[in-house]
Amino acid sequence: MKALVLRGPNSFAVEDVEDPSPGPFEVLCKVERIGICGTDVHMVQGHYDMWPAYYPFIPGHEWSGEIVELGEGASEFGWEVGHRVAGSSHAGCMQCKTCIGGRYNLCLNYGKSGIHSHYGHTEQGAYADYVVHNIRSIFRLPDGMSYDLGAVTDPASIALHCANRGGVAAGDTVAVIGAGPVGILAAEAARSLGAGRVIVAARGARLSVVDEFGFEVFDTNTASGLEAFRKLAPLGADVVLDAAGTPYTVPMAIEMLARGGRCSTVGIPTDAVEIPMAPLVLDELELVGSRAVAGEMQPTLDFIADDRIRAGKIITHRFPLDEFARALEVTEKRIDGAMKVLIDMSNG
Ligand SMILES: [Zn+2]
Ligand SMILES: [Zn+2]
Repeated sequence: MKALVLRGPNSFAVEDVEDPSPGPFEVLCKVERIGICGTDVHMVQGHYDMWPAYYPFIPGHEWSGEIVELGEGASEFGWEVGHRVAGSSHAGCMQCKTCIGGRYNLCLNYGKSGIHSHYGHTEQGAYADYVVHNIRSIFRLPDGMSYDLGAVTDPASIALHCANRGGVAAGDTVAVIGAGPVGILAAEAARSLGAGRVIVAARGARLSVVDEFGFEVFDTNTASGLEAFRKLAPLGADVVLDAAGTPYTVPMAIEMLARGGRCSTVGIPTDAVEIPMAPLVLDELELVGSRAVAGEMQPTLDFIADDRIRAGKIITHRFPLDEFARALEVTEKRIDGAMKVLIDMSNG
């Protein structure tokens, strides 16, 4: 099969490799679409120590496709050749304490091959004609849902998990920092959970993206950005969802919180972050991390299917796999207003 093979930082090519084959409780899928994630950009550039787990490596974890072969035992759980599915990256061991508690994103056996898989990070990913996934990490597309929407279900589920970790409740004022794909999807998730108001912090070209989605917006690129936010929400936000996770945004999120508020942060900072402890203590603020998903794929498919999460609106570009280098550049440099860039396996 054809696959994108990473051989080291910034060293990759589309190559012919051997087809994978499914083991027990796994399926082989023909990949239709793969979304380029911000994590993929960092991974290709070699910014993470832990990912990819080895070279040569095939990345890619936001995908949709069709089952073409069942491993032993998969049919007993109702899986059939021809089922259209969306993939999710974590397959927890389902035996450890955190997996049994439902938080398989925090599996204690993370990265142990044969027990746990983090597809596209520690196990082969989906920038390929075919990918193998455990049946715990695939979800059926509702009838009529496009492969495009299937491929953006993973990032939307991560956004929904972030909103769940923030404890968004009906009527809450929710602020979102960052208007890239995850930020916009987090705003959509907050609204689908019943937020009263959703206010998004953005800058540059992405101010108009927020506008198109119909959320309230303020510009973080000006000195008066926070002032503008306080005019919109004098008491602060009940929940802040930080989709950026930078040394600049985490302290800003804490400043934006209402007394007793909670910030859920999903960006992985590569630099040290200073936390303003005085307001955290005196206003009983909460700061929580949000990693991947823990059960949000199915509800996300339901929210996307009835347009409560308008995930299709973030798709701006499509490229064939052979043009991966260009697709990566368009994603990283946000060329032509790029939000979510898809690799279309049916094209080329
Ligand atoms: Zn992703
Ligand atoms: Zn586990």
